[in-house]
Amino acid sequence: MIDRFNHPDYNRWAAQIKRSGGCRQPIHLRGKVEHYDQATGELLHRYTTRTEPDGILRVPCKTRRASRCPACAETYRADTYQLVRAGLVGGKGVPETVSAHPCLFVTLTAPSFGAVHVRREKSGKVLPCHARRNAETCPHGQVMSCTRRHSADDTCLGEPLCPDCYDYEGSVLFNAVSPELWRRFTEALRRRFAKLSGLTLKALREQAVISFAKVAEYQRRGVVHFHAVIRLDGPDGPTSPPPAWASADALADAVQHAASVVTTDVKPLGRTFRWGSQLDVRRITMDGDLTDQAVAAYIAKYATKAAECVGTLDRRIQPLDDLDALPIRPHARRLIAECMRLGALDDLADLRLTQWAHMLGFRGHFSTKSRRYSTTLGKLRAAREEHMRAENITTGRLPLFDEDTVLVIAHWEYAGQGLSAGELLLAAAITGTQLPADGGDV
Ligand SMILES: [Zn+2]
Ligand SMILES: [Zn+2]
Ligand SMILES: [Zn+2]
Repeated sequence: MIDRFNHPDYNRWAAQIKRSGGCRQPIHLRGKVEHYDQATGELLHRYTTRTEPDGILRVPCKTRRASRCPACAETYRADTYQLVRAGLVGGKGVPETVSAHPCLFVTLTAPSFGAVHVRREKSGKVLPCHARRNAETCPHGQVMSCTRRHSADDTCLGEPLCPDCYDYEGSVLFNAVSPELWRRFTEALRRRFAKLSGLTLKALREQAVISFAKVAEYQRRGVVHFHAVIRLDGPDGPTSPPPAWASADALADAVQHAASVVTTDVKPLGRTFRWGSQLDVRRITMDGDLTDQAVAAYIAKYATKAAECVGTLDRRIQPLDDLDALPIRPHARRLIAECMRLGALDDLADLRLTQWAHMLGFRGHFSTKSRRYSTTLGKLRAAREEHMRAENITTGRLPLFDEDTVLVIAHWEYAGQGLSAGELLLAAAITGTQLPADGGDV
């Protein structure tokens, strides 16, 4: 820290850190950008990292995961919020008229894989976890009852009453096939909605489009469920009004039906998976119980979380890792061990369970949307970079060129990642961000 602080190029280093927005693990780039006049071949401007501190430029890691880099995850969260919100009320290139389109907030859950400890509340009072008067005793001698009133941070929440009875195989397989189950759900929804409307799928497409934005959330028991915004548009997407006959109620009916009928198989093991019976379908309105803002914030919050909330690891499991020695809870350990066991079966190779063991089998994207939903994260990022470029021009760092007449040649190479422990302290002070609880292992 003292070395860095007393170095002659400290100010330039601090400027880089400021620009990376408090990123905890910035990527180091080495390279140059040259601007040439296309007509004359004259070099107009050159930027090279050779004059930068240590000869490198530090840029944000852009991770989605708050456990790795809170600052970049916050950027991702804010972008996701804007993206979801634009699809609800307009903005970012989506017309405001979209707010009048029928729109639902839907939660699709996983089925049960065995009784787990839960915290239930009713009118402000915490209820007993699993109170059963004549509770059975399982083959492992465990009475299938728990009368405790668990606190919100009780570590046993989400863990099975009897781990030996718990269907670990089902749990990780459900995670693995859930993206396919979601895809089948969206297809079934379109088919059902067409049928309810008395149209063929093709005829429906000429009159209305169903758009989605969704996030995956890990429940404490270690299975994913999905929160989705489902919206009805006219044939051209958010810019066109849905036909007058298309109502939110009909859409909700179709959601209920589609969620209850779709299944997906894991043939080699003879297992079939479907959504859990807990299906939540609510209308999103501008001013009611469930507002557009609340939904956008909710979805954005989950977009930055991953399976580490369940107490698993924040990285891939390596072949030489000693599972028993990993600093995780027994439930997560058994879920990971089950992924490794199933991942070794040739018949299940396409589920890639070994590679995704740390995610407890889920290898889907955390937040996705259909093409027509709203803007894209890429466009939001490009807009931010354009804004920074404009700022660089006005502050004199980049000369202003007419884009059509200038040839830009850039060459970058990866030169590492992260900050030293001392740099991390300085970076936290400069950007007002928090230090990692463990002092950082970057
Ligand atoms: Zn970062
Ligand atoms: Zn309990
Ligand atoms: Zn048991």
